[in-house]
Amino acid sequence: MLKRLFAAGAMLAFATTCVAQDFPTHAITIVVPFAAGGPTDTVTRLIAQGMTKSLGQTIIVENVGGAGGTIGVEKVAHSRPDGYTLLLMHIGIATSASLYRNLRYDAQTDLDPIGLVIDVPMTMIAKPSFAPKDVKDLNAYVKANKDKVTYAHAGVGSASHLCGMLYLSAIQADVTTVPYKGTGPAMTDLIGGQVDFMCDQTTNTTQQIRAGKVKAYAVTSPKRVASLPDLPTFDESGLKGFEVTVWHGLWATHGTPKSVIDKLDAALQAALRDPATIARFAELGGEPVAQNRATPDALRAHLKSEIEKWSPIIKKAGVYAD
Ligand code: ASP
Repeated sequence: MLKRLFAAGAMLAFATTCVAQDFPTHAITIVVPFAAGGPTDTVTRLIAQGMTKSLGQTIIVENVGGAGGTIGVEKVAHSRPDGYTLLLMHIGIATSASLYRNLRYDAQTDLDPIGLVIDVPMTMIAKPSFAPKDVKDLNAYVKANKDKVTYAHAGVGSASHLCGMLYLSAIQADVTTVPYKGTGPAMTDLIGGQVDFMCDQTTNTTQQIRAGKVKAYAVTSPKRVASLPDLPTFDESGLKGFEVTVWHGLWATHGTPKSVIDKLDAALQAALRDPATIARFAELGGEPVAQNRATPDALRAHLKSEIEKWSPIIKKAGVYAD
């Protein structure tokens, strides 16, 4: 009996190795934990195009929005660890570890990192008819009208929520916030004038700013971005040291065979070197990470340090979600 069990175990291990060696034999899904048409969706589709070239399989993008991205993260955390269901998420995976009291996953142990992907700055934008002209005006206006103005974001734990929380605490104002499943749908309402202002990633705002569909106040990077040269930084507009960079990473479910992770990482690195991807990201104000950061070890270390960085800031701010 014992012998038979041992043989069965050995066969299973052999089968898993073969499956890993052949990987991928069919389409891969990347879960985007926000609505379609938003910044994470845009980043993911660009990366997916590049990765498809080297993996030789279709990559399907699945939008699982809601609860600031935590529903989509949970889906991947509880998927089969075979490399066919991946997650593309951003800084929010680190902040939600402190923002949510009842997460049904641990991002550090239930996911296996593949690599960092891209750093994206954010922009403070508003509906076209919003009165303030520049950052100084905006600060004064929001403080004076805090009972009237509305701030849009993609749920507690999203980048737009984080940026708004930091901005409002910097100017010491509290306003009504309106959560969406992603800043894709939030942008539609902002352009339509249903909400007043929002801080969102350049991957979603560059085209709208250039087309004059929204008002833009400042960018959250320490330096101006080349694709929006006229837009000042928050720092030069008087909010000294105000900076938010939205880093993104790619993960698989914990327990995915190492050889599969290695193949996915090689495909990610190739996608990040693809001149078409680099050019498109530059137009959208994003910068693909250096090759040595697009690795499992770099993402593992980064996630840990980001959770440690944001935890005291969030505790101090006293913001929680259940
Ligand atoms: N990344 C979100 C989205 O794609 C927006 C956010 O995090 O603020 O909609």
